Amino acid sequence: MLKTFRISLNNCTPSLQLSLLTLQEHNATWGSNHLTPSTIVKQSFQMTCQSVEELDAIVESKVREVDNKISNGNVDFIKQYLIQAMNYYDKYRSEVKNIGPTGKNPKYYCFQEAAYVNYKASQTLLRERIPKLPGFGGYKSAYSKIYHELIEMVEGQEHEIVQIKNCLKKKFCDDNLVLRLKSLKSPSTNQVRSLPGTTLTSEFKPKSTKPFSITIKEDYILVDQLYQLLKTNPIDILLVDLRSRQEYDLYHIEDGSGVDMSICIEPMSIRNGYTAEDLYQLSMAVNPDYERELFKNRSQYELLVCYGNHDNEATVKMFMTIMNKDTSLKRRCVYLKSGIKGWNQDLSFQNLKPNGYLTSTTEYFSNTPRHTITPKSSKSSSKLPLTTTSKPATTRTVGINNLGNTCYMNCILQCLLESDKFVSFFLQGDYKKHININSRLGSKGILATGFHLLVLSITKVSGKTVTPSSFAKDVSTVNKNFKLGQQQDCFEFLDFLLDSLHEDLNECGNEPPIAELTLEEEKHREALPIRIASTIEWERYLKNNLSIVEDVFQGQYFSRLECTACKSTSTTYNAFSSLSLPIPLDRQNVSLDDCFQAFCSLEVLDGDDRWHCPSCKKKQVALKKLGISRLPSVLIIHFKRFQVKWETGHIIKIDKFISYPFKLSMDKYWPEAQSEEELRNLEKLPSRNQNPPFNYRLTGVANHFGARTSSGHYTAYVQKSGQWCYFDDNAVTNNVDRHKIVNGNAYVLFYRRK
Ligand SMILES: [Zn+2]
Repeated sequence: MLKTFRISLNNCTPSLQLSLLTLQEHNATWGSNHLTPSTIVKQSFQMTCQSVEELDAIVESKVREVDNKISNGNVDFIKQYLIQAMNYYDKYRSEVKNIGPTGKNPKYYCFQEAAYVNYKASQTLLRERIPKLPGFGGYKSAYSKIYHELIEMVEGQEHEIVQIKNCLKKKFCDDNLVLRLKSLKSPSTNQVRSLPGTTLTSEFKPKSTKPFSITIKEDYILVDQLYQLLKTNPIDILLVDLRSRQEYDLYHIEDGSGVDMSICIEPMSIRNGYTAEDLYQLSMAVNPDYERELFKNRSQYELLVCYGNHDNEATVKMFMTIMNKDTSLKRRCVYLKSGIKGWNQDLSFQNLKPNGYLTSTTEYFSNTPRHTITPKSSKSSSKLPLTTTSKPATTRTVGINNLGNTCYMNCILQCLLESDKFVSFFLQGDYKKHININSRLGSKGILATGFHLLVLSITKVSGKTVTPSSFAKDVSTVNKNFKLGQQQDCFEFLDFLLDSLHEDLNECGNEPPIAELTLEEEKHREALPIRIASTIEWERYLKNNLSIVEDVFQGQYFSRLECTACKSTSTTYNAFSSLSLPIPLDRQNVSLDDCFQAFCSLEVLDGDDRWHCPSCKKKQVALKKLGISRLPSVLIIHFKRFQVKWETGHIIKIDKFISYPFKLSMDKYWPEAQSEEELRNLEKLPSRNQNPPFNYRLTGVANHFGARTSSGHYTAYVQKSGQWCYFDDNAVTNNVDRHKIVNGNAYVLFYRRK
């Protein structure tokens, strides 16, 4: 996810600065014989580590030291430690920048390590330790401002820390032993050749590789073939990256074994008429030693594979010509067919591993779930008649009694109950096996059980009306905002209800959160077409989110920021259960289409809203664009009728009439694949109903009457077996005239995909 909020300590907030100024004073009270926050921070500078794991151990020890100090309620200590640690982090980072990108200065890595340790220790304390402090609630409020500023500061640095970590990993990888391994090989005999003056310990001998079986007839190799070869014969292949050093350093093809058998030869250093020896002597004159060593031993590799960007085919050809005159090679040199771009696309798939895909959600719900948890109220529910028929009895119209301002709840329930797939799920007797009481964000099944009982009573109990008192009580137990007797925004209720049901029934609600993309991975994703990127993101999302709510109501939209200065972009993909659409105010007649257009229109972020561009590394004027990337089976649309007037702080209602169709096609808002290649790649991924056409039918309209959400009244139009019904709490009107449905009070629309 994109972190747009970044602050640097150099221009940190006044309250943080004040804390820094009063630091001396505090240190005095902690006494000089004991560890002070600053001594713990400063120790970090005396180290040179061999691995990230070693660094993490130092982080752990620092966290423990701080932990010991705060166990007796010394919360000031932790605060001062955090401020100092982040201050030092900032200092080391600027030292690194002063040295420049060469990394030749030995202090360079020292500073990187120190920055890493200070950051990681702060992050661990903030994320994991502080929330566990006994007085956290009180602490949080007493230091609320500082706590939030620290959190924001630390979170805002995540991209930097990924860079630091990558840099350190590279350094650790370049350590002498690994370096030697890179240049030592004798693949045909599987024996390790020693360089003069070195002896290898057995643990660093390359594993014996399989015979090199693949036959390459052409002068190129396909992504799949290379991927296979790198897996089976990792040390038999020498990869030659024909792009700039900068691009190579950012990302290049590796075999994943941790031993990087690749070199970079920059296009500008290759000349027509060069020989392979010229490449070594001239083109690679300034390359790192181990790369030169790898190339020097090129005749020992089974295969040389070169690749470039799609725009430097000439360089690739030139390189191929040179290498094919080199008679020492075992085989003709080949190039990677679709270049680094093709590799990147496929790499993204490999991260997802085809067998790691979830089966379709629908299929999933018909199978036996993993959770077999019996919620508290299962006894009472088992007494009620259960249905096993796939067709629920929702065609019956039942009014819902108002318990005192609960019309906001009633109108939403009536609209939701029209989704038969959703309703049948709750009518099934074994729905409770899907309740995940371990779901981190769920209500331990309270709401799902309450909703199940309500659905049962509406569909099964005889009588013209139902009284949802037990459900309303469950709602107010889970969310204090929906206290009985108070009028609420029906859309907020809908949002809360779907969200809570999703979490209660989320099969993956206790899975560890999936790792955020690294900066590199994010760059790869950014280069992918939207259809593919959004599908990959959805698969990632499903690893933590799998429920009937996700299956029926959730879609996905993307938000893309583009820097106007350097044109670099950053896209985030977000799941939605409903779409909130703005209402264009500049025209007389507004249609649903106009609202979608407004939702998707370009927004310029200027002034205070400027974007911190990660490429320019400063705030820039940016263009923001939202778009829909995946469409659900039931599409819920919310009109943003309520706006805060900043001058007065009052909420005003936009009372515009918005026309909306009974039949809605969403095709033009759904981004199609742009090329044959993209389509082929998409076929490798689960489509999950993302196939046009996207034709929807209006099934429900929740209406709001009145000037504000805190007063006023809610009703609903719902289509039941072909006829429209009007629900005004317990009063039901059947067979309503069709022309009444499209009305000026419409607030939330429900469309079902055909
Ligand atoms: Zn930029």
